[in-house]
Amino acid sequence: MLISAQGMSLPGFKPTELLKLIKALCTTDGPKWLPADDTGKFLYIRPTLIGTEAGLGLRKPRKALLFIIIACFPEAEETPKGLSLLANEADMARSWPGGPGSLKTGANYGPILMAQEYAKSRGSSQMLWLVDRGNNQQELTELGSSNIFVVWRTPEGVLEILTPTLEGRLILAGITRRSVLEIVHQRVHERHPVVEGLKIVERRVYMHELVEASDQGRLLEAFTCGTAVFIAPISTINYRGKEYNIPTAEGSMRPFAQHVKSWLRNIFLGDEHHDWGHIVDG
Ligand SMILES: *Cc1c(COP(=O)(O)O)cnc(C)c1O
Repeated sequence: MLISAQGMSLPGFKPTELLKLIKALCTTDGPKWLPADDTGKFLYIRPTLIGTEAGLGLRKPRKALLFIIIACFPEAEETPKGLSLLANEADMARSWPGGPGSLKTGANYGPILMAQEYAKSRGSSQMLWLVDRGNNQQELTELGSSNIFVVWRTPEGVLEILTPTLEGRLILAGITRRSVLEIVHQRVHERHPVVEGLKIVERRVYMHELVEASDQGRLLEAFTCGTAVFIAPISTINYRGKEYNIPTAEGSMRPFAQHVKSWLRNIFLGDEHHDWGHIVDG
């Protein structure tokens, strides 16, 4: 949030102070929405920052309002079939080199809502945003409000979990993306059987690599992640008029995404004590 605030020319703030405010709000409102005898529910916390300086002049605001919305989310329903994605054509873009695509700002959502509606009208659940790099190279980025992971075997046979790099600032550095990476790194370090032989890779990923992997049966799984969607499997990608099916194990999640989901869920529901958890009274 601080990075995005600075990227949008808004004043900065101390993250530790924001955490205090979030905790205070959760202490006050938490028990009402999350009664102790009804476990497994959660609140969606959205801190927001807007410039509030009066005047029409175009300059960096010296005054801003930081407020926090919390909403009670119903337990996210398992997407039974997985998401179907529609990849954008080369004449559209959500982000571009040097642009604001890596910032969490409302200004990045507005322009993609039309594409989102178009995807829905074509029977897809969401857009998959690619950046055209010329020479027939389309770089994989994200879904516009959530990040993407792919599990595949490389042509050399190595099992990899792969996600687009933050370098180049084409994608939002989602906290869920980071949590997935860190928890998988942790499990690899612990030699957990689920991640046996798994290599974790962050790099530029191109659509032609996914197409090739799909054609050769090396594409094992894909999923998206973000605070709102949490972790959801991806079942198809429509790219240049062709549907690429991604195995999703009989309409449910493949084991890997399912494991990651339960590891993270245990932390955020407080079943596992972890550095990422903050206990509030109430
Ligand atoms: C919010 C968002 C995500 C996911 O980020 P989280 O911090 O995991 O919620 C990914 N991409 C974009 C563009 C977003 O706005």
